[in-house]
Amino acid sequence: MDHEPSGPIASLMRELGKLPGIGPKTAERLTHHLLAAPRGRVYALADALRAIKDSIRQCRQCCQPTENELCDICSDPRRDGSVICVVEQPRDVAALERTATYRGLYHVLHGRLAPLDNIGPEQLTIDRLVQRLRAGGVQEVIMATNPTLEGDGTALYLSSLLAPMGVRVTRLARGLPSGSGLEFANSQMLVDALEGRRSF
Ligand SMILES: [Zn+2]
Repeated sequence: MDHEPSGPIASLMRELGKLPGIGPKTAERLTHHLLAAPRGRVYALADALRAIKDSIRQCRQCCQPTENELCDICSDPRRDGSVICVVEQPRDVAALERTATYRGLYHVLHGRLAPLDNIGPEQLTIDRLVQRLRAGGVQEVIMATNPTLEGDGTALYLSSLLAPMGVRVTRLARGLPSGSGLEFANSQMLVDALEGRRSF
């Protein structure tokens, strides 16, 4: 029977190796880097890691991570509350915000419908989105899920759910690299996709 190496060094390597894009070699290099780094810097990293779990929660309205009850975007009176852009992940909000073009609000689903992985509507923040529409004042919902099979399926599902609620449901224009995520699109592509959006 294999025994996994134990002790703090082995466990740090193991945890680092679970992060995306970090293989065993990089995990080992980072571990040795941290072993040699000044105590203050390593503690600052540990504190930052703790803080993202202890002080960050979901925005009450759009479900993106925030320190406050409402995120900076939802609490900004200059944003247009009549438009909601629906995205899969918080990093998609970041990508759209970098375009500095979109002035509406967002809704973060925290995933996409994936029947094969048993991810259904109840695993996403769809209920919260429906509540927002019921509260009134929303005229348009822009589907900005990723241009993948599951992203498209999610957008289609949401459009049939939301359209009867009397809002205009639109979809980002084609042109984003198919099969990839919004986060990989450059700002001009996202601006074009937003401006060329069409009704379902
Ligand atoms: Zn928010």
